[in-house]
Formats: sequence, structure tokens, C-alpha cells
Amino acid sequence: MTYENILFEQIGPIARISHNRPKYRNAENKQLLKELDDAIVRAGKDESIRVVILAGKGDHFSAGHDLKEGQAERGSFTLEDRWMYEEEYYFDYCMKIWNLPKPTIAQVQGACIAGGFMVANMCDLMIASEDAFFADPVVHSMAVTGIEVMIHPWVLGARKAKELLFTGERLTAQDALASGMVNKVVTKERLEEETLALAQRISEAQPFALKLVKKSLNRTLDIQGLRNSLDAHFDTHLLSHFTEESKLLNKTGLEKVIQRSKALNQK
Ligand code: ZN
Repeated sequence: MTYENILFEQIGPIARISHNRPKYRNAENKQLLKELDDAIVRAGKDESIRVVILAGKGDHFSAGHDLKEGQAERGSFTLEDRWMYEEEYYFDYCMKIWNLPKPTIAQVQGACIAGGFMVANMCDLMIASEDAFFADPVVHSMAVTGIEVMIHPWVLGARKAKELLFTGERLTAQDALASGMVNKVVTKERLEEETLALAQRISEAQPFALKLVKKSLNRTLDIQGLRNSLDAHFDTHLLSHFTEESKLLNKTGLEKVIQRSKALNQK
């Protein structure tokens, strides 16, 4: 597959896969998600790659799913169509990142919103620059139950996850650090360098040992109920796409939804 919406770079034993639609704040359209998935699978299979960095070119990691494309191509989806689409492009693609048998690091600057928040949080570690901000405003903007993969309480703790979802407001890089969602906050100038240095340090470990320790850590979370709760949320999420509240908000038009989301995030 040739990539038009992402950039795949190999730096020694490290693959850096970047969202690459900076003009659109790296909004994730269908093609970008396909390319991202292809790149993840490729990095997983390539034995010369030991660590994967997930990033975004330009000023932002990603502003989330491409809502304009979503409205144009999937606005009239039945529940059945939507279920199939969201399961494949959102849920299963995310789980492939989560289960990649190699350590992954999200490198985050600027906006990391909704779908972007979901993808970044599929990574094992996260480094953010001081200007990074995180939000999942869709309860407010679209009357749906947050994004498709309810990773929030697992990475933020229940309290902060509830605050994020109930208010729709931004979490700053410092808040995210304090909640334990982010491993390290650095200046924007040093973001790439620091992320590469962490990846390099990790890549010095034996790959099979890394694969097994990641499996153990992910299993620990699964035994606590992670996978079951993510599956359950996916059902609830799909239901919320078809409520009267959600339909009513959609009728007010996409621009209103985007405006509502922006207004929340300017608070
Ligand atoms: Zn959805």
C-alpha cells in the first residue's frame, strides 16, 4: 500500500508512523485509518523494527475522526451498516494497536481529540509537548457516549475520566501527566528527540522478552476486565448513535456540532 495520509519512517530499530494531513489538523478519514492499520501490521511483522512511535505531522496529533467525510459518506447509515463500519475501522483497528507485540509510544503535540485521543491511548506509553491538550467532547457535541473505545478510565482513573466525559472540556498536558495518562511532558522543540531517545532505550532490550512482558501487562488489565468492558461500551456507544437526542443534534447540522465542540474546547 502506498501512503498518502500517513508517513512511515524507519529510524534504526524504530518505526515512526505519523498522521500526515496537517492542513486538516490530521483528521482521521477512512483512507488514513486504512493506511495507519496497514502500517501498524507492517511494523508488527518486520523483525528489524523493535519499537513503534505513533505521531502527527504539523501542529497537532489529531483532531479526531473526519466528521465532514463521516456526514457525507455515512450520515444515512443504518445501525447494521454503522456497526460493521465502526467495529472494523474504529474498534478492531484500535485493538490491533493495543495488542501489537512490540512497545508503542504516542508522541503528542497540540490537539489530541476524540478519535485521536482513542488512537493515541492505544499506545503503551505517551510523551506530550507542553502545548498538547486532550478532549473527548462528543457527549456534548453529538450526544453519543464518548468515542468507540472506552479507554478513558484505564488510562486516567475513573474520576478524571468522568470529568473529561461529563464536561467535554480539555485536559492539559500537565493534567494528563498528573493523572498518569502521560509519561513525560517536554517542550515542543524537544518532543521528537525525547520520544526517539525513549524508543531507542527500549529497543536495547531483547524483543522476545519485550513481547512477553507486554503480553503479561496487557493480560493483567484483561483479567481486571479491560476487554470485556471495552466490548460492552462498544454496544452502548452504537446504541447512542441512534437515540432521539442524537438524531436531534445531528439535524441541527454538522457545522453546529463542530461549533459546539470548538466552543467547549475554548473554555
Ligand atoms: Zn461511533
